[in-house]
Amino acid sequence: MNDSRPLSILQEVFGYGAFRGAQAEIVDHVTGGGDALVLMPTGGGKSLCYQVPAIARHRARQGVTVVVSPLIALMHDQVGALEEAGVHAAFMNSTLDTEQYLFVERELTSGRLVMLYAAPERVTNPRFLAQLDSLHERGLLSLFAIDEAHCVSQWGHDFRSEYLALSLLHERYADVPRIALTATADDITRADIIERLKLDEARVFISSFDRPNIRYAIVEKDDPRRQLLRFIREEHEDEAGVVYCQSRKKVEETAQWLAAEGLKALPYHAGLDSAVRQKHQDRFLREDGIVMVATVAFGMGIDKPDVRFVAHLDLPKNIEGYYQETGRAGRDGGASNAWMTYGLADVVNQRRMIDESPAEEDFKIVQRGKLDALLALAEATDCRRVRLLSYFGEASQPCGNCDNCLQPPATWDATDAARKLLSCIYRFHQHGGRRFGAGHLIDVLRGKQTDKVAQFNHESLSTFGVGADLSEQQWRAVLRQLIALGHVVAEGEYHTLALTDSARAVLKGEVHLLLREASERPKRGAKTGRSGSATKTSSKAKVEAMDLDAAAEQRFDALKSWRAEVAKEHGLPAYVIFQNVTLAEMARQHPQSLDDLAGISGVGAKKLEAYGRELLRVLEAG
Ligand code: ADP
Ligand code: ZN
Repeated sequence: MNDSRPLSILQEVFGYGAFRGAQAEIVDHVTGGGDALVLMPTGGGKSLCYQVPAIARHRARQGVTVVVSPLIALMHDQVGALEEAGVHAAFMNSTLDTEQYLFVERELTSGRLVMLYAAPERVTNPRFLAQLDSLHERGLLSLFAIDEAHCVSQWGHDFRSEYLALSLLHERYADVPRIALTATADDITRADIIERLKLDEARVFISSFDRPNIRYAIVEKDDPRRQLLRFIREEHEDEAGVVYCQSRKKVEETAQWLAAEGLKALPYHAGLDSAVRQKHQDRFLREDGIVMVATVAFGMGIDKPDVRFVAHLDLPKNIEGYYQETGRAGRDGGASNAWMTYGLADVVNQRRMIDESPAEEDFKIVQRGKLDALLALAEATDCRRVRLLSYFGEASQPCGNCDNCLQPPATWDATDAARKLLSCIYRFHQHGGRRFGAGHLIDVLRGKQTDKVAQFNHESLSTFGVGADLSEQQWRAVLRQLIALGHVVAEGEYHTLALTDSARAVLKGEVHLLLREASERPKRGAKTGRSGSATKTSSKAKVEAMDLDAAAEQRFDALKSWRAEVAKEHGLPAYVIFQNVTLAEMARQHPQSLDDLAGISGVGAKKLEAYGRELLRVLEAG
């Protein structure tokens, strides 16, 4: 049982059959004492890249691995997961009381620990360094793993000054190998990580950023809350998900509304009391089927594997943000959805936030460029994934798993409509020099007799009624596209519209505009609301997706209740005991012996020993 070959460890300790993607190469390199910088998307499997080397090196009597992570709130569960798998681990952060601290310290100095998780500020603590010195002198300091490595860079989005001190590890223990890992790093950030952590000698492993199990969909905003509710009911009844909103107020309102509709929805934002935040996060991690409605404050390190959907009710700032947030879905590799509603107001708001921010002009130019890329993604009529990946510098083929691939949107030629719209804004300007917002503009184009039309005598404009053939929604889409493309700006408190220099080319007919056909009401909209039958169909569809027949479904439910008990007893989230995919596989295969059970992915030696007999009993009874 003391095999220190990585593949044996993967199978024995974690119960997995094979390494994924670059894992094998990374693990070999680090186990052999090399430095590494690992860039892998969320859910790619970064943890095993340092956990397996840590175990291998500990078994080879090379001592303890120190894992530096800023995610204090998660350390307890991470360590719990390792102990469940039979790996001796502990953490050191400000949440320990003296007695606990002294215990961890003893385990550390003895060299018995395989992994120690520590917050970055430990590294500047003299007492802690003295312990590392002592381990180092005895040849028992095996490896440093630096998680969330982008935190060292000011270019990243989560800069933490404590991370700067981590260069000390290399200066003090030059012979101890280091592995740094992150899911987000563009070229500048990457270079910065290498420089600041002194990883010049490190091998850099960059994985594809594709998340094939996530289905991307972006829908036009119509009645966003109802659209959201329908999406959750039809595709994710009783499943865990995150709904992102821009403001705290909207988070509160949306969570309340979903809860009133009968969903287990909780709010999360920086304005909540930290105890409440912690409680909501714990419930999200520990209970099944919680929908967390949150601002971006909820995010980094949410390593719950079975988040089935991420929904955006507001447009993020850029593609990096969008990709990071949606990336929290489906870490377990199971089918998941990234769903966003987006409309004219999003475009106007995001543009305005940049324009009105106090930042320097060149910073704003960068931000506008990033927003443009996101808007182009939202308006795209071709594969969303191809666009996402190309944004990160990866070439790919249409994916077959995004809304545009699955249901290629109809397009219409809006070149003429765009010209009419622009010339109408131009006429407003000529006719009295005033500016107007979208509502009035569309009324004039459609030839509506309103008070405002009468007040400004806009019937006399040559553009009055020239667009009666298009619906209001179509006009909104044209305007949104023109704002997205930067030909029109919406300014001031009333979002009044003005032309930009580039509008001239459109007016001259030099710019061809192909728009998505305004999306119709959803095809499945026939199902009205929350009747019992609609609920049943959807949960059935879900079970079918896991390929379980009725008997297996029963076993699955029995296993889940058993797991809930154990998790509660151990004070850990359910997925730490076994993930859903593992339980589903047990339910499907219905193993009759411990040997059969051992063959199931996710069942390691320790868990087999601890839970095997009980599992067989539960499977029999279920
Ligand atoms: P990351 O930290 O990169 O977001 P994790 O390390 O949390 O990803 O891994 C994501 C999920 O994939 C986890 O549920 C993990 O158990 C699973 N996983 C990782 N590597 C493997 C593998 N080789 N075989 C099976 N499952 C794996
Ligand atoms: Zn696609």
